[in-house]
Amino acid sequence: MATTVENRIGTEAKVLQSYLGGKWQAGSGQGAPLTNPTTGETVAWASSQGLDLKGAMEHSRNVGGPALRKLSYGQRAELLGKIADTLAARRDDWFEIARKNSGNTKADASIDVDGAIFTLKYFAKSGGKLGGARMLRDGAPMRLAKDPNFQGLHVGVPLDGVAVHINAFNFPAWGLWEKAAVSLLAGVPVLSKPATSTAWLAQEMVAAVIDAGILPDGALSILCGSPNDLLDHLRLGDVVAFTGSADTGEGIRQHARVRRQNVRVNIEADSLNAALLGPDAASGSPEFNFFVREVVREMTSKAGQKCTAIRRVLVPAEQAGAATEAIADALSKVVVGDPANAMTNMGPVVNMAQRKSVEEGIRNLGTQADVAYMPENFAPLDADLARAAFVAPTLFSAHKNPEADLVHQLEVFGPVATVVPYRDKQHAFELARRGGGSLAASVYSGDTAFLAEAALALGTTHGRIMLIDPSIGDSHSGHGIVLPSCMHGGPGRAGGGEELGGLHGLWFYHQRVAMQGSGVTLKLMEEAAADPVSG
Ligand code: NAP
Repeated sequence: MATTVENRIGTEAKVLQSYLGGKWQAGSGQGAPLTNPTTGETVAWASSQGLDLKGAMEHSRNVGGPALRKLSYGQRAELLGKIADTLAARRDDWFEIARKNSGNTKADASIDVDGAIFTLKYFAKSGGKLGGARMLRDGAPMRLAKDPNFQGLHVGVPLDGVAVHINAFNFPAWGLWEKAAVSLLAGVPVLSKPATSTAWLAQEMVAAVIDAGILPDGALSILCGSPNDLLDHLRLGDVVAFTGSADTGEGIRQHARVRRQNVRVNIEADSLNAALLGPDAASGSPEFNFFVREVVREMTSKAGQKCTAIRRVLVPAEQAGAATEAIADALSKVVVGDPANAMTNMGPVVNMAQRKSVEEGIRNLGTQADVAYMPENFAPLDADLARAAFVAPTLFSAHKNPEADLVHQLEVFGPVATVVPYRDKQHAFELARRGGGSLAASVYSGDTAFLAEAALALGTTHGRIMLIDPSIGDSHSGHGIVLPSCMHGGPGRAGGGEELGGLHGLWFYHQRVAMQGSGVTLKLMEEAAADPVSG
């Protein structure tokens, strides 16, 4: 049957269905509510109770996988292009759901929705360059022994299992498609599990793609509601790509099935990302102004609910006063309120539970740092604070103790950051590393030699480092924006994962095999394979 998505925008709240085993299915009972964080209203329910997840995974493996792998990379890339076009045609619908279920302003929704479409288009284009190949190669055949005819070649064979994608609540669109694009291009079917609280957008997007009949049966499934026994059915050839909190990530890594079967797992977890103002950057200099603008943008974009958002604001001690004042001044001009109001710059956090968690985080941070900015009489535009999930932008200062534990360890997932003064550059690098491994750092300086030194010093503890000198102050993509061409992930606390990075991301969905044979055989293999670097 075509999708029976009964929860179309504007209708009464309904129970989300899951698309598993090639059909739409409803879990039993009402399940968990999905709310509108601006009004507190319930917009949908999600239940996965009683769904046959074992059968769903078998369908993906036995039906979806073989159908996908009958196609070449180039043909699968074409499918991604069609998915992107299908989604782009309903952009306004996605923005509406993002506002109603995630409290997104148009700018917030664009990061999620347009980011998803852009990522799909990127892989449609770059994947097309792999043409008719059905496996990857890494380099060229090499001689292995005295006999020059005995050679070796590393190739990548697409996995024959299912890719289980578990996503966080803050990017229901981008989180779904940035993972699915790479997996589908690789030839591995996807079973996506969005976070329950914002699953509506993910579910509607999957429904649109299923309705359009773009993908073979079994190539794309979605589970709405709690994961239940999902991980119990993993086996050799499956992968898990997880995005979410460090605690849940740790639980997945420790899952008995994951450990016993050595199931490949990628973890994208939380992170206390830093922005670092160089020692040379005086108040009022271009680099100072770019820095302040970026900190404020990162604190308020998506109400601070980006895993890459700036949480720690490292400034030379002599600039701490000026930087704090400039950031506080800009924050005081941010209009917080109903994202439907065109005046609004920042919407609510995702729901009341998240508001409670952020408020608790603010209280805890306040035990080790001083409040530098918090609006008095906080009253969001067109919203009732008794029912709505708004949190005021809040800036702390760690001037009394820049090393304070919580400043470097507690991720408050909302519009909250702390200014941390440093003595000299070595102190700045040491403070940045105290995050224990982060997704992203950005450094702002007019001194390019300092930027290069910072890059090296921070490289082992960060997945991405943005080095901003004034020549790119206005043209860079933003501290918190993940680009499909660049690797996303970070060491240590950030999960130790790697996603995207252009076609390099395909390797996660392939088994790398060292092939050894005669020159003629390996030449054949070389010709049948595509190099993700050179095509
Ligand atoms: P979360 O509570 O860890 O949940 C993430 C996902 O895991 C959800 O889909 C959740 O499902 C699922 N889950 C929960 N328990 C599970 C279990 N035992 N087995 C399998 N799956 C399970 O995180 P969140 O609150 O949605 O997201 C916020 C966090 O994500 C923040 O800490 C943020 O830093 C991090 N994040 C990281 C990145 C990154 O790329 N590194 C990106 C975005 C967010 P239910 O919703 O049904 O519980």
